[in-house]
Amino acid sequence: MRRAYNDGSWEKARRYAFQILDQPKETQLARSVIIRSFWNQENTTEVIRLNSLWDNEFDELSLKAEYVLQKGESPNSEIHHPRILKLHKNQIRPQNEQKQWNDEDIVDNFWQEGSRVWMLHPHGWTFWDMPGNFSLSTTHPDLLRLTAEVLLYPWQKSTLQSFEGTRKLGSLPALAFSAGTDSTAAALVMPEETILGYHRRNFESILDHRNADKLLEHMKRDRGKQVVDISSNHELIRTYYHKQIGFSSDFASGTHLILLADHFDIGAIAFGTPLDNTWLSKGRKFRKFEDTRYFKYWTERFLSAGIELFLPIAGISEAGAIKICQDSEILPYLNSCLRGDGKKGCEGCWKCFLKNGPIGRPFDIQANEIQTFLRRKPLPTATHALWVLQQLNLESEILELSTFLESDLSWWTSSYPPAKEIIPLRWREETWKKIHQYLAPLVEPYPIESINLYDE
Ligand SMILES: [Zn+2]
Repeated sequence: MRRAYNDGSWEKARRYAFQILDQPKETQLARSVIIRSFWNQENTTEVIRLNSLWDNEFDELSLKAEYVLQKGESPNSEIHHPRILKLHKNQIRPQNEQKQWNDEDIVDNFWQEGSRVWMLHPHGWTFWDMPGNFSLSTTHPDLLRLTAEVLLYPWQKSTLQSFEGTRKLGSLPALAFSAGTDSTAAALVMPEETILGYHRRNFESILDHRNADKLLEHMKRDRGKQVVDISSNHELIRTYYHKQIGFSSDFASGTHLILLADHFDIGAIAFGTPLDNTWLSKGRKFRKFEDTRYFKYWTERFLSAGIELFLPIAGISEAGAIKICQDSEILPYLNSCLRGDGKKGCEGCWKCFLKNGPIGRPFDIQANEIQTFLRRKPLPTATHALWVLQQLNLESEILELSTFLESDLSWWTSSYPPAKEIIPLRWREETWKKIHQYLAPLVEPYPIESINLYDE
């Protein structure tokens, strides 16, 4: 039977398996051979039928079969991939499982069990594991409203609620710290007392925390930083709406800090958003960021919850961030690759190209992901990608945008002075003084203001 199965003779393997199916010692093996041989023959109906006949012993295979079956019938149907279904199923559930989603009073969807904070959403629950002495009952309700809005608004318009506006501005700055190059540069130019808040995705995925752990340890041990490390599964919320695992919106990476604002007396939350996504739109077209609806809305929204929105590297490109890290003797502890093993990067991802390439770390320009991104139109993070190609003398790797590649991009590592004006006043001078220690300011006319790579 084994030989037949290994040879791919499914019918034959199955015939043998049926002969021993009733021998108690062999049942499990026989069932496995039978159901897997049907799976290998793409007989999904039989896989589903046998699984239910055999006490759902082959649930995983059966889920895959259901997925294939439904996708076959209606390719555009929004059904979850078995891997996602398994993740949904394996999530921890609260004790208070009966509670219903409250559309009107958003604050009612939050509660605490031990040091775990739960948030109910229309498709389930999400949670954060807070420090031991955290108390939700003494946390200002506007912080909960802001958290829900940041995580659910893309799909639940009811989460847009009016704030009481009574929370006093806290006194400390905190940074949503991902341990990548941009947020490390942000940490290096922010005030000494800045709290670094790491969001730890607490379910299994392709993401590997080992590179981040190394830097977190260094920040604590060698640089005396206060590091707050919070586990959460909120990156699964998007998957209920048939999106990939990840942050619901730009500020989702800081929800742990929003929730902790009263606990740590936080008065500003910083994000390591570089120039590529502030004064440049999608890294390729200049815009007046301070006038965008996006910036105005969120600045106002955070402020009414007693938090200043702090974008310390909004005037610094990804290349400038790399330079700050390079000049801070932090590179031995830093690696932006999310698939690295704590020693090096994977050498094949877009981050390895964009962040590790310019500092002389190995990467494979022929790697699938790098080639896919380089061929995409428009080119993602275009200005920075072009700068990297120019730095590494790899201009021939890309055919489009050649005129731009011929121009001098060395200004890309300078700081953009107008960005100083959006830094919270109480930390403005201090932050920009540090920025100038690393990067010279651009002089007028600022070359970035004429960037429009695709004539949009
Ligand atoms: Zn990588």
